Amino acid sequence: MKTALTIAGSDCSGGAGIQGDLKTFAAHGVYGMSVITAVTAQNTTKVSHIQGLEPITISKQIEAIFDDIKVDSIKIGMLFNKRIITAIVNTFKHYQLPKIVLDPVMISTTGRILLKGDAIESIVKDMFPLCNLITPNILEAERLTDTPISNTYDMETACRKLYELGSKNVLVKGGHLRDTACDVLFDGNDFTYYNHKRIDNPNTRGTGCALSSAIAANISKGQNTVDAVRMAKDYITKAIAGGFSIGSGDGPVNHFI
Ligand code: PLP
Repeated sequence: MKTALTIAGSDCSGGAGIQGDLKTFAAHGVYGMSVITAVTAQNTTKVSHIQGLEPITISKQIEAIFDDIKVDSIKIGMLFNKRIITAIVNTFKHYQLPKIVLDPVMISTTGRILLKGDAIESIVKDMFPLCNLITPNILEAERLTDTPISNTYDMETACRKLYELGSKNVLVKGGHLRDTACDVLFDGNDFTYYNHKRIDNPNTRGTGCALSSAIAANISKGQNTVDAVRMAKDYITKAIAGGFSIGSGDGPVNHFI
């Protein structure tokens, strides 16, 4: 049985975060495991509370898994603060790591900050060099490169800048741009473009979490990065098309489509 580990925040409403990641792993037939970094109270309308866990609690979860179980890929999501990032990086030093897919989560669709300001610098400096792939959306790529992005050419420029920060591959996701649903992957030499037609469904909660988890699951199953992203894009396109309403705000994607 292939395995995948998500290191991320809990979304009690089940669409994003750890819960969305585990559903995505299950949908891919991969055995999912989780290290929880923060607990959020949220629903389809708002994030009302966030509690970051103590760094020791996060390190102990990582140790419990790696001391016993073979991990075939890691997805990293919400990291919340600098102390949490430092704990994870220090614990990682004791283990042989599989490929890591990092979604640099900064803000929820409902507008809540999921990463404190001082943590961005440590993600870039300490985490990016450990990663096989980072998957920023347009807003995150703009923040990380300090440059506005409005078209595919800007996305390529952002990919090049982000690649210099140490990840082996960079996927800039174009979903927030009006004129394209194109995502751009850069491996330091070549660009790969993933075009999909834009789907008109407001129920997209958990899209970024599911995409990065699907990429990690495909890597666990032996796919290379280019194919893992292509297959994950096909999955997420269907999951968005199947997104459904469960509360008064925008609902989740359908992980099991
Ligand atoms: N809540 C948690 C715990 C998350 O990890 C994420 C994204 O990674 C979100 C919320 C944001 O999801 P959305 O963009 O669908 O609001």
